[in-house]
Amino acid sequence: MFTLACKDLGTPECGYIAKEDDSEKAVHTMLRHAQETHADKLEELSRKMNEKEIFELMLSKVRKEP
Ligand SMILES: [Zn+2]
Repeated sequence: MFTLACKDLGTPECGYIAKEDDSEKAVHTMLRHAQETHADKLEELSRKMNEKEIFELMLSKVRKEP
């Protein structure tokens, strides 16, 4: 199981955690959540980073759970 916590991406008030059986899938799930819930933050981020960099940043925060 791979998990990605929204609070690890700069939203300490959010308790959302993406859980998937694949690390890239977890990033996709998180991106969807970010688009729905943190559209303003995602837009801010996308002014500084391109899509690939955002993807890789999120991928680096994915944790492998037993
Ligand atoms: Zn969130």
